[in-house]
Amino acid sequence: MTRIMPKPAVSGGLGRIRTAVPVTLLLLGIACTGPGVTRGVRGALPPARPGAPVPRATRARLALPARVAVELTSVARAPEVAIVDSTGTFRRVTAAGDAVRLDAEPPREEVIVRGPVRIGEALHRGDVRVTGGARGELRTIIEIGLEDYVASVVAAELPIWSAEPAELEAQAIAARTFAVTALRARRAAGADLVLTDGVLDQAYCGAYEGTSSAGAARAQRRLEAAVRATRGLVLMRGDSLEEARYHASCGRHTANFADVFADEVRELGAVGPTGVHCRPCATRAAAEQANGAPDATRPLGWIARLEPGDLERAGAALGLDGPVTLLAPARVDDAGRWLEVHVAGPDRALRVEPFDDLRAAIGYGVLKGSAIVTTLPRPGRPIGAEGLTVQGRGRGHGVGLCQEALRDLAREGWSAARILRHYYPGTRLERLPVARD
Ligand SMILES: [Zn+2]
Repeated sequence: MTRIMPKPAVSGGLGRIRTAVPVTLLLLGIACTGPGVTRGVRGALPPARPGAPVPRATRARLALPARVAVELTSVARAPEVAIVDSTGTFRRVTAAGDAVRLDAEPPREEVIVRGPVRIGEALHRGDVRVTGGARGELRTIIEIGLEDYVASVVAAELPIWSAEPAELEAQAIAARTFAVTALRARRAAGADLVLTDGVLDQAYCGAYEGTSSAGAARAQRRLEAAVRATRGLVLMRGDSLEEARYHASCGRHTANFADVFADEVRELGAVGPTGVHCRPCATRAAAEQANGAPDATRPLGWIARLEPGDLERAGAALGLDGPVTLLAPARVDDAGRWLEVHVAGPDRALRVEPFDDLRAAIGYGVLKGSAIVTTLPRPGRPIGAEGLTVQGRGRGHGVGLCQEALRDLAREGWSAARILRHYYPGTRLERLPVARD
């Protein structure tokens, strides 16, 4: 779902520093007695009224975490992490066996530096916690307020300089909902209640800083206004949070959650959106077809050329006896998205595998989506030493909100609520209270 990862602007200092608050535990899905507003809407965003009582009939079992933990996966591979703390002091955390050491201090289990902090060029409006592992690696985790996290995700997922308010608001609601459902799934699985900053979860690269120009300052104000307007708002399906997946572009029609995330349906009982027609993508796809070429600035179509080495790697990942020598669709959804494929190795024994396993083996950046237009050699024909060319349309898993269409529909005047209602049919918006720490 990562589309755009803008480099945070560099500023001289930490700027708008907030008072540091203690690291708190995550509280998810607990009984809530605190203030808050829970209200479903159909046409517009519910007003933010944090002081209003929760209506009796909808007194929430669900509550949002006040803070979330986000692991910086790129920093984790470094032998040390350099942090500028909230006083502007440069601090260095290094591995010390399976522990960590802050500057010259003795090793300890974990180091917490109160925020906001700067790591590299990125400003994080939260505390940073660094722990050590058995192999001397570092885990660098930002403990950050949920709404600050949402603002950072929106800034990383959208080109916010040119984004309409409805675009920012819809993305904020989807990002907030996604974060909470991801953490709940992790809790159910007994895993760490930690989000990551990469494609496995949502793009996060620190706070957006509108310090480089008047335009950047305006963009920051629009971003903050959108997050404020949607504060606490999530997508609900019945009594549950929606699986609010989103992706860069669907190509023409979005995918069924149950088709793409069948494991989560089976193992966690997860429920998500069904596929819907996507007019902006369909229009663009028709134009690309008529022109015989992808759009120059916002292409839907893509071509991947898989070399013999790629096919070798894919064969190994799928457990074949050598490189992939045959590929053909086995199960296709209504939009032409390949869900399962027939594959064979040199022994020509056909097997059925999830297409996503092939994408994972070859790289999501190479096979950008699963709506495949055609391949060369054609599907089912032997693949030789020349490799395989795959032509597709759309980027990402195709489930839920289509960011490509989000931009177009917001410019047409659609509200965030209307856009979300279209891409997550059968859901409603609710403003959930925040759990007390
Ligand atoms: Zn679309």
